[in-house]
Amino acid sequence: MSIDRQRLNSLMQREQKRFVDERPKSRALFERAGKSLWGGVPMNWMMKWAGAFPPFLREAQGAHFYDVDGHRYVDFCLGDTGAMTGHSPSATVSAVEQQIKRGITLMLPSEDGIWVGEELQKRFGLQYWQFALTATDGNRFCIRLARQITGRPKILVFNWCYHGTVDESFITLNREGIAQARRGNIGPPVDPAVTTKVVEFNDVQSLEQALAPEDVACVLAEPALTNVGIVHPEPGFHQALRELTRKHGTLLIIDETHTICAGPGGYTRAENLDPDFLVFGKPIAGGVPGAAYGFTPDVAKQISFTQNLEDCDTGGIGGTLAGNSLSLAAMRATLTKVLTKEAFDRMIPLAQRWTTGVEKVLVEYSVPWHVSRLGCRAEYLFSPTRPRNGTEAHDAMDFELERFMHLYAMNRGILLTPFHNMALMSPATGSDDVDHHTRVFREAVKELAG
Ligand code: PMP
Repeated sequence: MSIDRQRLNSLMQREQKRFVDERPKSRALFERAGKSLWGGVPMNWMMKWAGAFPPFLREAQGAHFYDVDGHRYVDFCLGDTGAMTGHSPSATVSAVEQQIKRGITLMLPSEDGIWVGEELQKRFGLQYWQFALTATDGNRFCIRLARQITGRPKILVFNWCYHGTVDESFITLNREGIAQARRGNIGPPVDPAVTTKVVEFNDVQSLEQALAPEDVACVLAEPALTNVGIVHPEPGFHQALRELTRKHGTLLIIDETHTICAGPGGYTRAENLDPDFLVFGKPIAGGVPGAAYGFTPDVAKQISFTQNLEDCDTGGIGGTLAGNSLSLAAMRATLTKVLTKEAFDRMIPLAQRWTTGVEKVLVEYSVPWHVSRLGCRAEYLFSPTRPRNGTEAHDAMDFELERFMHLYAMNRGILLTPFHNMALMSPATGSDDVDHHTRVFREAVKELAG
């Protein structure tokens, strides 16, 4: 099947009209919002939803939410992983209710932090833990520590990665293989090529060449790329990454913020990785802001050589609200009772069911797309074969088609992430939710096929 762009365009218009007609209350709120919120939304990426305006939220629970016009949705976006726990999981809510009455933020430690540190140690195998409010900050702090320890200026990332709003990471390779600022990079402080080297995922040879001059403090990597569709590592890639980083004195930061979908100890535990730093944000506190970063005793030893007490509050690693009592209580409850092994044992087969459903439709209509899965995360991409790297994955993206698929789904009670075609399962997601997606996906493909 090839996409008839004219048909796509007229289907899109029909769906846009349906979206607007069926959501008068969201539309009215969006118009009002435009007078005080830039772009009519609280955060600029909320403009990216496929409708003429976003559906405004009335309430969410578990794997579902209602918009203000009364439409019910199965939520496969789950706050782009921030709500991978399902919305407002009861254990997290009770812990928050208890803690919120007993002090929210004090800059003092409580026992919850120790409990969380001990649990993260067990899950990921790294000994020492610190907290931040966002995964972005966790990544930024690890990068600073790595530069401080190694005395080296640069970092290395993989092409088309995403690690939050980390200045150093907004860099891509152009068609000639030259590193340049990523498209849409707003006000970079310096040309990112000054701070960063970028190579393709799974390209061991280029990695070796980039690390050989020994000016790279750290590699910041997702263990599988998840922000340009899913790009899996090839057999042996992680071993080569670890060996090369060690050989050249470069530290390895594994960002598990999304790949936590692989299991309770993320991809690191599932595949026995051995990073120097690990970052885990988004769902760690059930949607309450919070993130953690861990490191090895060796890293810890080197940090203590280089940090001094007098300046430790103004050294570039901070955040007044980081490690606050509320988010630590929420993390403790989420890790004990929500993101458990039993939960993953339910979520992962659901993602398998989602993948199988999509695959069957692709075969039925001879559609040259493919679907990929990593733990409880699944995603379809508009190319027949699995991408090997970020460029192949990015080349397969089709903004127009993506928006149609998302809008078609939204109009029928399904929410996917507004970025690529990702679906995530929560402990509250059911097989009926997955089957609902399969039916809607089939209808969309059937209409596209004509
Ligand atoms: N790391 C990864 C892998 C991410 O996908 C993201 C966000 N999509 C982040 C870090 C940043 O998370 P936050 O925006 O919550 O800081």
